[in-house]
Amino acid sequence: MFSDARYAYELALRLSSEPRFTGSEGEARARELVVRELSSMGYDVKLEPFKVKVYEIRRAELEVLEPERRSVECAGVGFSGETGEEGVEGELVYIEGGDPALVPSSTGWIGLASARPDKEGWRKLAGRALGLVIAEGSPHRQLSRVDVPHEWREKLGNLPAVYVRYSDALKMLEARRARLILVQEYREVEAFNVVAERRGSKYPDEVVYVTAHLDSVYGVRGAVDNAGGSALAVAIARALSSVPLKRTLRFVLFSGEELGLRGSLAHVEARKDEMRNAVLVVNLDVHGGAMGTTRAIVTGSKSLRHSIEFLAKKLGVKVEVSEDVMSSDSASFARLGVPSVNVFRASGANAGMHTVEDSPELLHPSSFELPGLLALHIVREVADAEEVPFEREIPEEVKRKVDDYFRRRLGIFE
Ligand SMILES: [Zn+2]
Repeated sequence: MFSDARYAYELALRLSSEPRFTGSEGEARARELVVRELSSMGYDVKLEPFKVKVYEIRRAELEVLEPERRSVECAGVGFSGETGEEGVEGELVYIEGGDPALVPSSTGWIGLASARPDKEGWRKLAGRALGLVIAEGSPHRQLSRVDVPHEWREKLGNLPAVYVRYSDALKMLEARRARLILVQEYREVEAFNVVAERRGSKYPDEVVYVTAHLDSVYGVRGAVDNAGGSALAVAIARALSSVPLKRTLRFVLFSGEELGLRGSLAHVEARKDEMRNAVLVVNLDVHGGAMGTTRAIVTGSKSLRHSIEFLAKKLGVKVEVSEDVMSSDSASFARLGVPSVNVFRASGANAGMHTVEDSPELLHPSSFELPGLLALHIVREVADAEEVPFEREIPEEVKRKVDDYFRRRLGIFE
């Protein structure tokens, strides 16, 4: 079994005692804690600074005006735009996911959407709608505390957007007019990745990464996303702290992931030349939720996938493997041709992701056992093998998914 599961659980509890929004004091306290832990294990720990844009929601208010007046609780979407203190008022139009068939050619209305439009949808709406009201995807979800990449507002235009609960959105289908107020501020801050390293004994230039993002979304404690993954990365560091390995181990706890993979993009940009020596990234995003199963997304070759499946079977860990890009820091490495395996946990706890429901009560020590066992062995086997046991090449088909992710889904590169 994974003997550091209890350690991972206790660390995840401490990390998720408060929100860790990028550049916040909560994030700084979590960072100090992981720096202390990794240093005490004998790793060489450094902070890697980078500049990142953050937002602060000052006011988010929504009011239905017709047929009767009432206010509706909402949460502002970071970087979507502003209405000014006076707000905007207009006819409410249901547009589903921003489907062109439903989007009016006129201007001056407020859209009611069943899901967040993608970048292309956003582009079409930004010139026409005064604002956007997005329904939560399930009747059981609290309000999402999320953002769109700051580039969307800068390049596509202002589209002040808020999330509302599913039940409120359902009632709003009968409403005719609404008023929306969204006031937010933007600023640039210095954020830090934590980088802990130990040189390999035989192939020190070849690096095996273990990564997780330490930041949370705005105002959310982010227990499963991603205090759990951060704690598991540190627990793997602990398990390997006195195990001699041929390759260099590098643990990175990223900041700015929830704002569009900013920490990992800064990291790979600063170390572009080193990336050809990066053998594998084991990325841990979404962990610790009680009552779940182990999953893995391989962004790499078939032989990497087969190596993971072989190891999982050897260990007796059931894992559902797919070949894809994950919306997480591993994508930044994939962009530069570095393969990754994203080990994560599927669990009922994930239903509240990016809402205040993602809280420490959802964590349980047993949740770290199997993903911990699998991730630890992947890292150990690859870092200590005489030859890397898989093809490092990322197949064309997966590369296309990575490109598509950055251009359309995340939408931060043209
Ligand atoms: Zn995450």
